[in-house]
Amino acid sequence: MTLDKINILGIEYSITYVDKPSEVDINKHESFWGQIDYWTRSIRVFDDGKRPYEDIFETILHEILHGIENELKLQAFNIKTNERGHDELDIFSLALTDVLFRNGIIKEDKK
Ligand SMILES: [Zn+2]
Repeated sequence: MTLDKINILGIEYSITYVDKPSEVDINKHESFWGQIDYWTRSIRVFDDGKRPYEDIFETILHEILHGIENELKLQAFNIKTNERGHDELDIFSLALTDVLFRNGIIKEDKK
């Protein structure tokens, strides 16, 4: 993936790719596919060069949804008010990725 920054509702986030899931977590506590940090305005994504493009896109979209959720103070994905909130955010990123790729709106970028 060549995308190295993304503007979410007027806020620019840098995107960094790391080759180990344990390096995705800025606090090094857990292993993740992706993580967004609102303080440093950064998104970190696991990309070992073997993950399919569509998977990496889905991870970034997941983090974008977190960014939108945070900026607009949405309740729908909030696990404090909706115990399925995070699962539903994940389903949205999966479904949106499917629609965007299935219709050729997003295509794999050849490096
Ligand atoms: Zn998440």
